[in-house]
Amino acid sequence: MVVHPGVAPVVHGVAGALGSLEVRDAAGRRLGWAAFEDPRVRSIALPDGGGAAARLERAVGRTEVDWPVGAVSVRLGGQEARPAAPPPPRAGVVAVQHAGPAAERLDLLFLGDGYGAAEQDRFAADVDALVGYLSAIEPFGAYTSLLNIWRVDEISVDSGVSHPDLGVTRETAYDCYYGCGGIERLVCCDDAQVLSTAGEVGPVEGIVVLVNDAEYGGSGGFTYATAYNGEEGLEVAAHELGHSLVLLRDEYSYEIGSYSGFTGSNCSASGDDLSWAHWLGVDGVGAFEVCSYDNFWRPTENHCMMRTLRDNYCPVCREAAVLALYQRIPDLLASAEPAAGALVDATGDDDPLIRIETLVPADQLTFEWSVNGEIVPGLSGPEVRPRCQPELTGELTVRVVDPTPWVREDPNDLLQSTAGPWTVTAARCGGPPSEGARCGCRTASPDALSLALFGVLIRRRRAA
Ligand SMILES: [Zn+2]
Repeated sequence: MVVHPGVAPVVHGVAGALGSLEVRDAAGRRLGWAAFEDPRVRSIALPDGGGAAARLERAVGRTEVDWPVGAVSVRLGGQEARPAAPPPPRAGVVAVQHAGPAAERLDLLFLGDGYGAAEQDRFAADVDALVGYLSAIEPFGAYTSLLNIWRVDEISVDSGVSHPDLGVTRETAYDCYYGCGGIERLVCCDDAQVLSTAGEVGPVEGIVVLVNDAEYGGSGGFTYATAYNGEEGLEVAAHELGHSLVLLRDEYSYEIGSYSGFTGSNCSASGDDLSWAHWLGVDGVGAFEVCSYDNFWRPTENHCMMRTLRDNYCPVCREAAVLALYQRIPDLLASAEPAAGALVDATGDDDPLIRIETLVPADQLTFEWSVNGEIVPGLSGPEVRPRCQPELTGELTVRVVDPTPWVREDPNDLLQSTAGPWTVTAARCGGPPSEGARCGCRTASPDALSLALFGVLIRRRRAA
């Protein structure tokens, strides 16, 4: 088990020790935990519907875990490990899309296997195509501002990857091969090699290995995804990312019986007690038998890329994807100017601005400003100029919410944030602003409001 601070722990040889990974302090007390899914299970959605799954004998897994103050080690099953120094940063890392600091964004990493020296441009183009595809499907397209996308350019000796069943062995960067677990279209790679490269890039939440091969194939699991770069590779990659990025399960049948472990957000162990009850009756959502395992239920008959290759998630998986994106960022709020706690004197000729920056574009959000806990009607948007608005005198705060209809239940309040308070003093503007100062009067100010009411009264009197 290898643990790097800020880098996902890598756990080797964990058969029989799965379930949860505990974070412990020096006295051995449990400070936190993260689910640790069986990394040996790999699956592939097939072009004609359905899919196949295999449980490998050995696999390397990864999980992300919070590291609270006082944490010194992690424990998984019988193994305990302490963080090692993070590996040195790797050369050849290219930022395909850089939205912001890694700690505040979701970082998606693309590796290429079987791309020879003359095919590096092809790899870059394949990654661009996949990023373009992801940006065009819901919900990722609406949240590209949360995504950093990285690519590691690495030359494989041979072009294409191995096909052991055809007797074809190729020397490639990550030793990817078809026929993994005895399944023709299942593509696996050298897990340790993939995860060690990812560790050198830094904290990443999703890993896709693109294989330069024309034959349909790929794999998904809870560790990383693989996809071929042919015609349907984009859909394969999007499906497989649903596993590693959103922790979704396959909605097709593995035809390998029942399972008693973790169900995931899109599979339920009971047709009556559904985690997606709040979606029932919407866009075909109900409870349908079989979701990976025979004893699990899925949300739609056939309306999700986790069941068959297609461009959309079912509402339940789309909601899980939005929540997963938010779960990976520390806060919807990026910054506030001035900082919370500041005194804002708007009684003079200055026209002070209170402004917050959000990680999601402001036009996708609602902003609710309050003074001393009372909502101020008519104020919206990410900034306020309190000059000439005496009603803003007091403790000013703002609540930001993502009102997306894609999320119906947000039990952990991930889609909202509060900023402030700022202690504001503002006064009624007696006359026109003095030379050089700009009056911050807005339609919602009492001056403008009373003027407007007065105008209505005058008109009524005239009409009478
Ligand atoms: Zn689904």
